[in-house]
Amino acid sequence: MSRSSRPDAGGSPGEGLTGSYTSGTPRLDRVYQDSQARAGVTGQPEVTSPIRVLADRHGRIATDLRVSLTDRCNLRCSYCMPAEGLPWMPHDEVLSNDELLRLLRVGVRDLGITTIRLTGGEPLLRPDLTTLIARIAELNPRPQIAMTTNGIGLAARAGELAEAGLNRINISLDTLNPDTFTTLTRRRRLPDVLAGIDAALAAGLTPVKVNSVLLRGVNDHEAPDLVAWAIRTGVQLRFIEQMPLDPQKGWSRDRMVTADEIRERVAAVHPLVADPADAARRGSAPAELYRVDGHPIGIIASVTRPFCGDCDRVRLTSDGQVRNCLFAREESDLRATLRGGASDRQIADQWVAAMLTKRPGHGIDDPTFLQPDRPMSAIGG
Ligand code: SAM
Ligand code: SF4
Repeated sequence: MSRSSRPDAGGSPGEGLTGSYTSGTPRLDRVYQDSQARAGVTGQPEVTSPIRVLADRHGRIATDLRVSLTDRCNLRCSYCMPAEGLPWMPHDEVLSNDELLRLLRVGVRDLGITTIRLTGGEPLLRPDLTTLIARIAELNPRPQIAMTTNGIGLAARAGELAEAGLNRINISLDTLNPDTFTTLTRRRRLPDVLAGIDAALAAGLTPVKVNSVLLRGVNDHEAPDLVAWAIRTGVQLRFIEQMPLDPQKGWSRDRMVTADEIRERVAAVHPLVADPADAARRGSAPAELYRVDGHPIGIIASVTRPFCGDCDRVRLTSDGQVRNCLFAREESDLRATLRGGASDRQIADQWVAAMLTKRPGHGIDDPTFLQPDRPMSAIGG
């Protein structure tokens, strides 16, 4: 089945959904229940639908919320941030834990969010992260809690984060060579990241997924080594095509290392085969799955084979802006609504409305494509 056709997920492309339904609507009930089952949502006597869902006008329903906890970072990956960093958000613009929890409660209880992924910037830099995770774990229904991190400082904290309720982790690592790591991230921290990965495995945050972005002439030759290391270490490696999200505007389609190139580079050294169950199982998961001696390897072709038709994501920035797409050019200011004294119902209304402008695709290949003003580090990857 084509990844862009989703007969179960709310109608044909272009069919308008209002974002509002009663729990008797079988089709949306099923989408919600499937999403709960995929996310492993537990603890409910029976699966009940929220009053409404975050539906867009193209038949997609967002159940996976990516929350940026901070725009700050302790690395300076060249595809993400300039060497000098960026002007950080003033503290009073960032949502407090109480404010964030209120929005998350509305998302989970009233709008069908089943997974919350904490990201940034670097989420481990958020003060009180452990307490925040513990409080998210108390939400009802209990969402799956995931985090994407660069792994620095994780070695000392993986255990307590898992105990607080963190379910899954993605750690970013683009190279195994200390000098290349320093060139790429402008910091000499490779041992910290490797220690963080070991700690995540020891804490049982499995499967530990490792995200790798390959840059031409910098680390693209390392693809087979990264695969061998992932198999040895017991992590699931996922290569991600570089996207135009850096404030330096250094991305170019011609220089980008494509998913096909990555596959060829790996296959030149390892017995890489397509996972036969991939298409049936993938659903909204972005990675194309392969196997090397039975071990799963993912390739995320965000640019060359976009999966926008199956997107189930919505984003909340650390300053409380809803973004219905990574590449959205407009945002909906939930922080102003919240700080203005709005009710939960008004917050939910605004969030539902924000989904209705979600475009069918990111449009990177469209001649009118414009990179969003917010850099990746302030959106939350
Ligand atoms: N600091 C954390 C980290 O690096 O994992 C979380 C935030 S980071 C923005 C999330 C993910 O986005 C990382 O895996 C990173 O490699 C990826 N990323 C950043 N900029 C990217 C770009 N221009 N294209 C593709 N992936 C990118
Ligand atoms: Fe920081 Fe993550 Fe961006 Fe690297 S990719 S600079 S670790 S936010």
